[in-house]
Amino acid sequence: MKRILITGAAGFLGSHLCDKFINEGFYVIGMDNLITGDLKNIAHLFPNENFEFHNHDVTRFVHVSGKLDYILHFASPASPIDYLKIPIQTLKVGALGTHNLLGLAKEKKSRILIASTSEIYGDPLVHPQTEDYYGNVNTIGPRGVYDEAKRFQESITMAYNRFHGLETRIVRIFNTYGPRMRLNDGRVIPAFMGQALRGEDLTVFGDGSQTRSFCYVDDQVDGIYRLLFSDYDLPVNIGNPNEISILDFAKEIIKLTDSDQKIIFKPLPKDDPLQRQPNIDLAKKILNWKPKVDREEGMKKTYQYFKELPQEELYKREHKDFTKHIKR
Ligand code: NAD
Ligand code: UDP
Repeated sequence: MKRILITGAAGFLGSHLCDKFINEGFYVIGMDNLITGDLKNIAHLFPNENFEFHNHDVTRFVHVSGKLDYILHFASPASPIDYLKIPIQTLKVGALGTHNLLGLAKEKKSRILIASTSEIYGDPLVHPQTEDYYGNVNTIGPRGVYDEAKRFQESITMAYNRFHGLETRIVRIFNTYGPRMRLNDGRVIPAFMGQALRGEDLTVFGDGSQTRSFCYVDDQVDGIYRLLFSDYDLPVNIGNPNEISILDFAKEIIKLTDSDQKIIFKPLPKDDPLQRQPNIDLAKKILNWKPKVDREEGMKKTYQYFKELPQEELYKREHKDFTKHIKR
């Protein structure tokens, strides 16, 4: 039986990846320190004899006994509000955490796939973004802690590939959504859906002309799965190129949720990218992959998930308390 370690397992993407690899017949070792994730996302896997969970901070030495065929490194805060609240942990998990996992992969002779992001393109001057674009990142801005950690992560991964001959894969993930996102993580989809469910006005930042391109989680997981088993070791964009302005997206959510909420405008956060759309020609060519779920269908499924959450979660306004997960 092939064994795979998935870091960030209790998070949104990590938990869906655990499901995928369990369903494909792998032995899955999930690892997470629960700083932005939640055990409820993987609780259904605990009775499974092919799943084990380690509550561990990957910025510390990572030990796993036995053989390890594959590693997926997905541990990292991913919402701009999360990484503004825990900037040092964000830098550490992208830098020290990645170093530890590359070391483990070298020791175990595992193939390792690293979760990178469209944020490495910063506020892009090339549109849509192709993999050969180097990006436009403010190193010392508030988002720099995430963007630069991810850029370092790509860099050290390629160094292990070239210097140690390690088998590495790098996925550049564009905004992905679906069930198990944290309702109060501040990202735009849970934010708008939570507001619609509570009967509040939708908060659009800036004038809402900035764009994003949203990919449904099942498509993202399929792309990552194909990339892991491909023989391509340079970065690959995975995302849905269907681009929309945030203002139009707010209007779509009002329609989808059949609510009569108004839109209110709040200041645009610093360095918020003005446009984002993946060019996915490379993924189409080498992975024979393209997204299948359109925004309407994906948003309906996601809204259904949020609707079914217990009422107390819907009204849990305060941001997650990170302090108890940080060990000094
Ligand atoms: P998430 O916050 O739901 O999941 C991240 C998980 O990592 C959480 O469970 C958290 O507790 C865990 N974690 C953080 N620091 C850790 C540490 N030091 N040790 C162990 N575990 C730790 O976020 P997500 O959306 O699932 O993102 C997962 C990965 O995908 C991240 O690396 C993120 O950068 C990347 N990504 C996601 C998106 C997206 O749209 N969802 C876009 C680009 C990149
Ligand atoms: N946004 C918004 N209202 C909100 C939350 C986010 O208008 O309540 C905007 C945000 O400024 C950004 C876009 O929605 O332009 C996507 O934000 P998100 O935090 O989801 O992720 P990002 O793509 O910026 O990392």
